[in-house]
Amino acid sequence: MKLESSDPVVAQIIAKERVRQQNTLEMIASENHASEAVMEAQGSVMTNKYAEGYPGRRYYSGCEHYDEVENLAIKRLCELFGCKYANVQPHSGANANFAVQFALFNPGDKFAAIELSNGGHLTHGSAVNVSGKWLTPVTYRLVQDESRSDWGYLDFDSVEAVMKEHRPKVIMCGYSAYPREIDFKKFREIADRYNAILWADIAHIAGLCAGGAHMNPFPHCHVVTSTTHKTLRGPRGGIIMTDDEELSKAFNKAVFPGSQGGPLMHVIAAKAVAFGEALRPEFKTYSAQVVRNAKRLASELSGKGYKLASRGTDNHLILIDLRPVDADLTGKTAALWLEQVGIIANMNTVPNESRSPMQTSGVRLGTPALTTRGLLESDIAEVAGIIDMTLRSKGEATKLAEAGQRVRAVCERFPMH
Ligand SMILES: *Cc1c(COP(=O)(O)O)cnc(C)c1O
Repeated sequence: MKLESSDPVVAQIIAKERVRQQNTLEMIASENHASEAVMEAQGSVMTNKYAEGYPGRRYYSGCEHYDEVENLAIKRLCELFGCKYANVQPHSGANANFAVQFALFNPGDKFAAIELSNGGHLTHGSAVNVSGKWLTPVTYRLVQDESRSDWGYLDFDSVEAVMKEHRPKVIMCGYSAYPREIDFKKFREIADRYNAILWADIAHIAGLCAGGAHMNPFPHCHVVTSTTHKTLRGPRGGIIMTDDEELSKAFNKAVFPGSQGGPLMHVIAAKAVAFGEALRPEFKTYSAQVVRNAKRLASELSGKGYKLASRGTDNHLILIDLRPVDADLTGKTAALWLEQVGIIANMNTVPNESRSPMQTSGVRLGTPALTTRGLLESDIAEVAGIIDMTLRSKGEATKLAEAGQRVRAVCERFPMH
């Protein structure tokens, strides 16, 4: 029975969510709009089966089509990133990272990662995450000195220094709020000097790497983890990749039976669809446009007086510091005003943050979802104008209403598929 007749209550909630997405501009840097094909695969009969184990080595009968789809997902993913081995079973980016940590470390082991406040992720050693409770993160940071031209860029001297002092067995790179290109080759040179494993978590930039708009982590990194739902535009999920056969075996064991049960085979089918989409030439065009749109957003907003972390962007996101425009405006209030006009974004700490992570002085904005809807640079300039109007509104109802009208006009021009 169709959802609409069997459960009209849930059907209506989903319908309202579709309308919300159509009527707002999604600028959370980690979000996107998956294709209808991806959603169709995810909403299929593939949800019905237990397929614990791996293709050809399942614990249950009746898995021939699951083997087929998982092998296809692995093959496409390896082709996409030019690597030899992949595990497509992690339920999320956090689960992928946990499995890698479970495979590589003993409790208490050290690993190098960026300071969380400099753009890292909870799974990279935060005190409230298992990675920080059971392991020992030693941290590097971004260039802090604003008189330097590379202010806000990765500070490779601090990476070298932390390796020299602590000799951790792993270096993690890859971030959640870093607007610049990551030089995997340079990281590898440092890793080799200290005989360390180089691990890139490309959760945010995977789609840019796949589409050729960012340096590929292979062949430089020993381990690569990612989400599949951010710039890669697939279903919500995680992946692990490597060129090393021994490591791949350890990761497979760490995913199942190490930390997960039955794989989400409907999601794996949808991952295969998304990887297929990312292999097409259109995806190259998409990822290049994501970056062009973010660069335009950066130049428009810095032209209007906002201070941007690292003074701009090379990828899909920017981090704006509101203080030069309005010293009293917190990131929390800014995100609230933006939501009122129909622009969805999140507050974020900024370099030299003076407020708590619950208030912040900044907002993070990304272009992956808007680019999927078809916005080009000139449309992004209009969006930047609306953002500026909103942030300078002092919360005045008439100004917010006018900004809201302008958002609605943009939304109407770019229907969601
Ligand atoms: C989003 C993100 C993750 C976690 O992904 P989930 O699917 O939310 O668990 C891990 N690492 C980085 C760098 C991320 O940005």
